[in-house]
Amino acid sequence: MQIIHHGAKTGVTGSCHELRLGQYGVLIDCGLFQGDETKQSLDIDFPISHIQALLLTHCHIDHIGRIPWLLAAGFRGPIYTTEATAALLPLMLDDGLKIQLNLNRQQRASFINLVNSQLRPVPFDAHAPITFPDGSQIEARFQPAGHILGSAYIEFTLPDNSNVVFSGDLGPCNTPLLVDPVSPVQADTLVIESTYGQRNHESVADRGRRLKGIITQSLQDGGAILIPAFSVGRTQELLFDLETIISQVSPLMPSNGEEDIDWQRLPVILDSPLAAEITDQYELFQRLWSKEAKERVIGGRHPLSFKQCITIESHQEHLALVNRLKASGEPAIVVAASGMCTGGRIMNYLEALLPDKRTDIIMIGYQARGTLGNQLAQERGKVQINQRQVSVKASVHTMSGYSAHADQSDLLKFVANINHGPSKIHIVHGEYAAQKALAKALQAIRPESEIVLAAEQ
Ligand SMILES: [Zn+2]
Repeated sequence: MQIIHHGAKTGVTGSCHELRLGQYGVLIDCGLFQGDETKQSLDIDFPISHIQALLLTHCHIDHIGRIPWLLAAGFRGPIYTTEATAALLPLMLDDGLKIQLNLNRQQRASFINLVNSQLRPVPFDAHAPITFPDGSQIEARFQPAGHILGSAYIEFTLPDNSNVVFSGDLGPCNTPLLVDPVSPVQADTLVIESTYGQRNHESVADRGRRLKGIITQSLQDGGAILIPAFSVGRTQELLFDLETIISQVSPLMPSNGEEDIDWQRLPVILDSPLAAEITDQYELFQRLWSKEAKERVIGGRHPLSFKQCITIESHQEHLALVNRLKASGEPAIVVAASGMCTGGRIMNYLEALLPDKRTDIIMIGYQARGTLGNQLAQERGKVQINQRQVSVKASVHTMSGYSAHADQSDLLKFVANINHGPSKIHIVHGEYAAQKALAKALQAIRPESEIVLAAEQ
């Protein structure tokens, strides 16, 4: 058995790993490189004729975005993933094909049909056997990873009964919308992500309080609140928290000491057709929600589709809203993609509203090196948008509590709770410093484990 990393070796994008057994192999994820890592070619630069299946941990673009290139290289094998990821995958791929490859509607539809013909949705906890041409068989099992809807870590049982676990992206504990990940009982070999291998987040309880504080302050100052968010995962966590805040605050908050702002009328604008479609899928898969979230629904609340949440569909509507907010400075919360400000509708808002000191930007996700989001988080005075220099007068707030990723303490807990193993740990999907920090912390709790860093291979 061999594990080969074809991506996410020295950074957090382009996740793609191969589990090789003799002459055959399976791929785990096939993601796009983003930010500085886009300098790497997207063409599949490794042999695939022996690859018998692709398994997807979840549908973030850095785990699925290179599927078009994989199929272009000739891969026609089955694609195994959870039912919710299978439902989200066409939406995410369609968006990627539009943005990255500029394909028209018909070209996109025929590609999505091809992907659908290869898709094999598997329920959580079920065993999916994968048989190789020589008759040998491995088994895959998807378990909740708590990262985004449908996200899973994958347990493989090999012909010799040993097992290998690929963590995919693990979610933090105690997020209100999804269930927490539960560690596998056994993992002889573990491949684990390390996005936040060197850091701990502010707590989930604190994030709601801080968000409320920033919004309250901003309402008093006027201006829009822009929140760049990944369409899948962060957007829904954020909507969930906004609904919580709005349901708790007193209807009237003072603004400039003059007029009162009615929180119940404060528009929460979801300016992303993709995020809206994905939010619909979150509604359809309520069975995967946490107990707390389900209880709200039973109590008659609508955590993801509350009254003042407005969805912007057309591009004209979007442009009109950007201009209106720029001209009026009226209060509004705008949630738009992309999460790292590398494209999408958030760009027009940033270009129009960054020079306005009343604007507040709340950064809630991981910002990869080389992205505009990363530059904003560093509080640069000037940035480039659409080939124009834009001065940044807006206040930029960074909140780590919305990360979809486990922090160092969550990652350590995930490994500590494995009853048997791991004798070998591969650390992937993190900056080199994060991989090293996680390795050091893991070695302390698992002194018997051999630890390999993907960045050093
Ligand atoms: Zn992810």
